[in-house]
Amino acid sequence: MRKYVIMGVQGSGKGTQSELLCADLGLVHISVGDIFRWHVQNHTKLGAQVRRTMKAGELVGDDLVESVVRQRLDQHDWNFGFIIDGFPRNGRQAEFFMESYDIDGVVHLELPDAEVRRRVLSRRLCPGCGMDYNLIADRPEQEGRCDICGTQLVVREDDTPEALAARLRDYHEKTRPVLELFRRKEVVYDIDARASADEVQKEIRKALHLPTS
Ligand code: AMP
Repeated sequence: MRKYVIMGVQGSGKGTQSELLCADLGLVHISVGDIFRWHVQNHTKLGAQVRRTMKAGELVGDDLVESVVRQRLDQHDWNFGFIIDGFPRNGRQAEFFMESYDIDGVVHLELPDAEVRRRVLSRRLCPGCGMDYNLIADRPEQEGRCDICGTQLVVREDDTPEALAARLRDYHEKTRPVLELFRRKEVVYDIDARASADEVQKEIRKALHLPTS
């Protein structure tokens, strides 16, 4: 059983790297942001509660986030383990998490803010099937259309320069201290996230002592 946390500023490739690891190791990828986005898209009560906060790029309240994480992990569909992405994001969330779960490692993807801006503002999403695109590295074959289902691609509601600035500020102020907390208690692996997705994946596997293909 492997339990990992993946951390890094938005656009650092947490989702991509988590999916690559999960596919091989049979882990479950738990993205708190994806859970919230699902609720917003499906107009649930929780979706209505978090929509405005997400749109502004601000953090959802700790109580709500913790109950979502607890419910998700209580499903126990993670026989081989999990990678949690987007959580914890501040000191309180980190303490809640460390009290409840033993973590095998924290993967920290490092990316300079300028590169974050370049990547995030070119990100596109398919509202039909959820496929992610990037106009720099991962363009759709036909401009503006999903390769899988043909739906018109959209910009994530919180991928605006204003919301991104708020998220970067929050990240530096609140999330960095979480890393320091983890560094004292857990194993943090710092990974340079500027390289290509494959290269970054190789570095993660090396750090976690996993076989590289
Ligand atoms: P992400 O996809 O991780 O960038 O998350 C999208 C949005 O969901 C964030 O900008 C927050 O509004 C909210 N969110 C996700 N994870 C958390 C968390 N751990 N604490 C508070 N808000 C969160």
